[in-house]
Amino acid sequence: MDKRTFLKLLSATASPVIPPLSAWVAKQKLTNWAGNLFYSTDRLQEAASVEQIQSFLRSQDKVRVLGTRHCFNSIADSRHNLLSLKPMHEVVALDPVARTVTVDAGVTYGQLCPYLDSKGFALHNLASLPHISIAGACSTATHGSGEKNGNLATAVSGLEIVTAAGDVVKLSRTADGEIFRGAVVGLGALGVITRITLDIQPTYAVRQYVYEDLPLSQMRDHFDDIQASAYSVSLFTDWQKQRINEAWIKSRVGGGQAFAASPEFFGAKAAVRNLHPIAELSAGNCTEQMGVPGPWYERLPHFRMGFTPSAGKELQSEYFVPRRNAVDAILAVERLRDQVTPHLLISEIRTIAADELWMSTSYRQPSVTIHFTWKPDWPAVRRLLPVIEKELSPFQPRPHWGKLFTLSPAKFRSRYERLGDFIELATKYDPKGKFRNDFLNTYVFAR
Ligand SMILES: Cc1cc2nc3c(=O)[nH]c(=O)nc-3n(C[C@H](O)[C@H](O)[C@H](O)COP(=O)(O)OP(=O)(O)OC[C@H]3O[C@@H](n4cnc5c(N)ncnc54)[C@H](O)[C@@H]3O)c2cc1C
Repeated sequence: MDKRTFLKLLSATASPVIPPLSAWVAKQKLTNWAGNLFYSTDRLQEAASVEQIQSFLRSQDKVRVLGTRHCFNSIADSRHNLLSLKPMHEVVALDPVARTVTVDAGVTYGQLCPYLDSKGFALHNLASLPHISIAGACSTATHGSGEKNGNLATAVSGLEIVTAAGDVVKLSRTADGEIFRGAVVGLGALGVITRITLDIQPTYAVRQYVYEDLPLSQMRDHFDDIQASAYSVSLFTDWQKQRINEAWIKSRVGGGQAFAASPEFFGAKAAVRNLHPIAELSAGNCTEQMGVPGPWYERLPHFRMGFTPSAGKELQSEYFVPRRNAVDAILAVERLRDQVTPHLLISEIRTIAADELWMSTSYRQPSVTIHFTWKPDWPAVRRLLPVIEKELSPFQPRPHWGKLFTLSPAKFRSRYERLGDFIELATKYDPKGKFRNDFLNTYVFAR
């Protein structure tokens, strides 16, 4: 019997009573990936089937679902019960005609992508790392880069959700229109996503080039040309010396925005070896560069599966501002360089296409994101974030749903014009607030 059949049989016959992960919990406190957040409960349950989830939800008043725990703030936290869908990690269906793939909600991009590629298909984009769960990433509007690429949630065409009452609801882009657009970036507030369907396309190869020391003046004068130069562009800076330290250019081979590689790029010089975004760190955990073509899923993320992504010991913040304000917003942060750099590992600037998903950070707004990977010193970062947020306030920044910010709840909520509709939708599926936690009560549901 192969593993897939075994798991299927197991979940079909499994008892609806879920054993707690007590062995693990007894040994150590449950934290997020970065270790900056201790979840407020040790009550973590794993579910291996929809029936188990239904039974669990019917027996509990308060539940939050955990994905792969990569959020830096308390959006996933619960004081009562955490539910993990890690055992639900099967690819359910690949439809080559409709060009969709349906997966269990415990599947990560790192698990899905090689499978998809082996079948001749690809996703439109990926985040900087493949380690994250698809359900958690899409629920928080996780994004990659590329001015024509929507965030990862824009690939979602169908959802299966178990609601607070334990009912199974199926929503699709074609059948459910507005409600679907409200549900996709759902923040874990509508219910437990059990299956997720994504748009796919024929597989493609990508070449990745890195350029060093792009003068800030070139960024200021040619921001649009730089962003339009390839399928996905990321600019890394420590804000010092009036430069972008590294420009990462990801170019699709044989179509789209093919990148004409040359030794110089807007005054920056082509790197002569693979680099980490933090130049002092080894590039061993980074995806292949130097223009070597490779499969989409081994070039679109910056970091390789099987290795620790990014720096490991870090905090992260990120702000989305309208694309039209990109240069002004970047220069506003640059003015703070001497306050920012001492606490920074690296910043990254990316572009994202607008979308129609109500709670998306790019809702109806082509966006540029200014991201900060911080040294793990929360007291210092907490003092700095209000300074950055004040400087960015003319551009009405929307903080990343899963990263650290200090914006007031009232200002935060004012950035989402569909907030009222979202509250109504969430209340329909979860009338008593079973899936609400302190974070959601503060930044979403408070009126
Ligand atoms: C090193 C690193 C690099 C990163 N790079 C990027 C990047 O390039 N771009 C970017 O945008 N972000 C990035 N992030 C942030 C990350 O993508 C988000 O935090 C994302 O939410 C992580 O998914 P997760 O499954 O780990 O989420 P979790 O923290 O586990 O959960 C996130 C939210 O999703 C909900 N959720 C999870 N699963 C379900 C489910 N089945 N049903 C209902 N709700 C669910 C949770 O309740 C929670 O509210 C990075 C984070 C790290 C640590």
